Amino acid sequence: MNNTSTSHEANPRRSFFRAIAAGIGSGSLAGLAGFKLLTTQEATAAPLPPVSAEATGTLVIRMQRELEEIVAKRVTPNWLMVVDTRKCIGCDACTVACRAENPTGPAGNFRRVIQREHPAVSVGPWAIFKPVNCLQCDNPPCAKAVPDGMIWKRPDGIVEFDDTKLRGQYARAAAKACPFQLVHVDDGRTFTGDTPAPQAYERRSFVENGKVQTRGKGGASPDVARKCTFCSHLLDVGVLPACVTTCIGGAMHFGDGNNPNSLVNEITGGRRLFTGHSNQGLKTHVVYFEESMPDTTHVDCTVCHY
Ligand code: SF4
Ligand code: SF4
Ligand code: SF4
Repeated sequence: MNNTSTSHEANPRRSFFRAIAAGIGSGSLAGLAGFKLLTTQEATAAPLPPVSAEATGTLVIRMQRELEEIVAKRVTPNWLMVVDTRKCIGCDACTVACRAENPTGPAGNFRRVIQREHPAVSVGPWAIFKPVNCLQCDNPPCAKAVPDGMIWKRPDGIVEFDDTKLRGQYARAAAKACPFQLVHVDDGRTFTGDTPAPQAYERRSFVENGKVQTRGKGGASPDVARKCTFCSHLLDVGVLPACVTTCIGGAMHFGDGNNPNSLVNEITGGRRLFTGHSNQGLKTHVVYFEESMPDTTHVDCTVCHY
């Protein structure tokens, strides 16, 4: 997607530091609160909002409190993950946390952080980092590629797989249909399989698709399709997704899009699409604030990495 840089985006790093300075003065996100909540994702791409200067720990505490309120009130949320790529430092801590929470083998992972550098940028070394996981599309192409009932939407927006059926040819069809290559077909291998046997930590149990599983047995056995579920097993018991609590850059935000007072609505102004990023019309539940590179025509990471 091509994008003409706005004056705000012309030097996002400088804007970031200006935002920090402003944030120290205000001490809160209150300056971002004056927004009009939009009800549709078809709204045209909005300019990038200022970078939040709130401390990462403060954001996590707020998100955790919002989640606990949802669990206590037993309301059905509309989960949104908001990723501010301007704050992502590419450390991959979230990827490690995802693997720890959702065991996979050497064939892949539910999450990765992609990097794009541009040699023509004049201001020195420049890279953007973009963490990616299943976008929980409202009209998911993966679901259209397999028989009805194998992939469905939960009322809270999460796309769930039936791991008893989404195997073999169906697993591969779903993976092929995902435009973002975010379906992982588990091949059953372990990192320690020839040492000479898989170590216990690779055979530990975990919860996925509503049940306790072990790699190599049951739902997570070889040739099954797996992917990010926003760590639904954690959400259901009032715990934030592993990648959100682990993000040291403060790039990850998570909460209820139905709540006009939630952090995710505060920082997005109720918008779902921002300049520099295209969700290809799939009405995704992951929203990106994507930074354009200065002095260049914006090239979306998907050109090389998807
Ligand atoms: S991102 Fe891919 S796997 Fe996730 S819902 Fe959309 S099409 Fe399916
Ligand atoms: S929400 Fe959970 S499964 Fe999804 S990328 Fe984050 S840690 Fe991985
Ligand atoms: S933990 Fe946060 S800052 Fe580090 S790569 Fe992941 S999203 Fe980026």
